[in-house]
This record gives sequence, structure tokens and C-alpha cells, in this order.
Amino acid sequence: MNEKKLELYIHIPFCVKKCDYCDFLSFPADSNTQIRYVHALLQEIRYYGNLLGDYHVPTIYIGGGTPSWLEENLIYTVLQQVASSFHVEADAEISIECNPGTVTAKKLNVYQSAGINRLSIGLQSTNNEELKALGRIHTYDQFLKTYELARNAGFENINIDLMSGLPYQTLDKFLESLQTVIRLKPEHISAYSLIIEKGTPFYERYKFDAVKQEAGIHTEILPDEDEVYRIYKATQDVLKQAGYRQYEISNFAQPGYACRHNIGYWTRENYLGLGLGASSLVENVRYTNTRQLYAYGEFCDHLQEKSPAEFLKDGEHAVPEDLWIGSCVQEQAQILTRKEQMEEFMFLGLRMNEGVTRAAFEQSFGVPIEAVYLETLRKLKEQGLLQMVAGRIALTDKGMDLANYVMAKFLL
Ligand code: SF4
Repeated sequence: MNEKKLELYIHIPFCVKKCDYCDFLSFPADSNTQIRYVHALLQEIRYYGNLLGDYHVPTIYIGGGTPSWLEENLIYTVLQQVASSFHVEADAEISIECNPGTVTAKKLNVYQSAGINRLSIGLQSTNNEELKALGRIHTYDQFLKTYELARNAGFENINIDLMSGLPYQTLDKFLESLQTVIRLKPEHISAYSLIIEKGTPFYERYKFDAVKQEAGIHTEILPDEDEVYRIYKATQDVLKQAGYRQYEISNFAQPGYACRHNIGYWTRENYLGLGLGASSLVENVRYTNTRQLYAYGEFCDHLQEKSPAEFLKDGEHAVPEDLWIGSCVQEQAQILTRKEQMEEFMFLGLRMNEGVTRAAFEQSFGVPIEAVYLETLRKLKEQGLLQMVAGRIALTDKGMDLANYVMAKFLL
């Protein structure tokens, strides 16, 4: 039996309406399209189940989009298919993203019976004006209703997403949202800073401010760099006082509730992305599914089911290049070089407060970390950006503030 792990990500690309800041792969769709999409997804799950079904699956994450918009039985069917195609561990963390306004008690009960044990609720702000400005479909009251339904249904592991750096947002306004959320005692809080992405209505609305900001010029509408920094520091302090441990740049959890799925990404666990535009990293092959809905459905219809033996080399579970490039669902495939693997190991690992361990580096690459990064480590430590304690290398507080600068130093 293969003891290797494989996390699963399942992408549901549908949303009731596109939020004004969003550049994720998501769009509205009628129920027929949703059903046809799930049909294609089931084929893809079966296909990869045949190839990789003996890996152990410790976590499943159903993201989007708005997975909770789908009819609940579709989600149930997807998870039934996963359970019969893969070896899902008994204590697997199974998460689903929900948006207020799309959740009912019935849906939550079906999620429970499908094995889902973690909800991630997209709130973003408790201020209705801010929610409206973001183009969200819900009010704070609708969020509260969703949260209450989730607790009543028995969910004991809930994340709430919050967003900072919103137009006209001040530190006080953000703290009001944060304190309101803390009073609800969710197990996990993700606090991200808004990024104004090209191609979104937000970009059109705020592009002059965004450009000014990039040039370090103060703007009236978007909080400037200093305000964003103050918000970030206050978030860290307030959440720490409330008993949340920061375990990654933007993620905070009560003890025992760090998201196992995300930690898997940052520790370079194998993961398989299923669905439209989903990305995977399996045995150091990185690939991405097509982003074209029609093409995805067509491709899944023509997936040939082959036995793992046809693809896996001598029981090593190494996946040969031609499998990934040859599979028609995928648009891009890249075999990571050793150099790229090392870079990723460092800049993903250092996102976490615990950082990386010397032992894990050596185990992955067969050489001590100093053999590759001696000078980089020395300099960053000297600058007070890295700390090294008991075999661990992690960002200092100052390093976390300058995370992008530090990560760039690990490019080889
Ligand atoms: S709900 Fe999320 S994925 Fe959907 S449009 Fe809004 S931000 Fe994008």
C-alpha cells in the first residue's frame, strides 16, 4: 500500500454574481450548466482515482467560486465519488467554501452526512457599506444567519475570511469588523489584504489610486502602505490577545485548528487539483487544467481510463512526464527542476510562522541547507529578518513585514 499523501482540491467555478474585485476563475451559470460540470468532474475524479487511488488523502478542499451555491446533492455526489475513487483517511479534514446568501440548513445537514467537517465562510467585512462597495451579494445579517445555521448543524471548525485595505477603510473601521468577528469565536480567521487586480471593475474604478499607491504616493480612497501596515500589525496583536495563533502570514487559528490542507500546500505535499483551471503538484510535476468550461467538459468526456500500472514506473509512484502532458484536461505541465523545488521549499515554507526545518530540507534534497543557501541565510540573519532556533529557520517579525523581499533572496 502506498503510504504517500495526496491532498485533493476540487474547484467549483460558479458564483451567483461576480464580486467587483474578483479575478478568480468564477462566473454565474444556470443549473443545467452546473449539473453538466459536476458530471465532467465525476469523470475526472474517476480517471485520477484509477491513476492515483492508492495514495492516502488526508485533506479535501472544495473551493471556488461558491461551492455552497450548488444544489447540495451535487456536492454529496462529488464526495461519494471521491470516497470510492481514493483512499480518504478516516480523520481527513474536508472543507467547503460557503458564501452567505447561498446556504440553507438542509445544505449544511447534507454536507455533514457527506463527511464535510470544516466550513470556510466568505464574509470580508461586517460593514454593509463595505460589502456593497465590494459587490458582495450578502449583508452582515445574512452572514450571521449562515454562521448560526452552521453552528446549529454541528460544525465545530469554521473559518471566516476578512479583507483589509478596502476603499475608504481606516484602521478603526477594520478593527470594528475584526472585533465583531472575534466575538463569534470562529476557530479560524483568514485576514487578507485586498489586491486591485487588472481586468476587474475595481481596477477600472480605482486604477489611478492603485498606480499612485504603487509609486508610494498618498491616496484619498485606498488606504496607503502605512495604513495597510498598521492594519496588519493591529490584526496580529488583536488576534493574539484573543487567543488566536498566527501560523501563516494571513492565517490565524485557535489551538489545534490550523488548516491542514493549506499547511500541505506550504510544505509541498502532493496535491491534485480537480475541476476547471485547478492546479496540481504531484511528484514534482506541476500542471494546470484548462480554464475553458466547454473544453473541460469535452475533455472529461474523452478521458480514457487506464490502470495505474500503465503509468506508474515500477511501483515507485513516480509519474512520467508524458502522462501529465498527454492528458487532455491539462493545459500546462512543468516538471520542476531540483533548483525550483528548493526555491519553492523555502518560499512556501517560510510563509509559515514555524518556518522550515533543516532536517526536512536535507531529507528532501539529500544535502544540508547550508550547502545551498549558506550566504543567503547568513545575510538575512544578520539583517534581523530570519531566526534560527533548534533546527528551524523562520522569519522574524521584521522578516514577516518584509516577506516578499526575503522570499526573493531564495531564488537560485
Ligand atoms: S464570491 Fe468569491 S469567487 Fe465568487 S465572485 Fe465573489 S470573490 Fe469571486
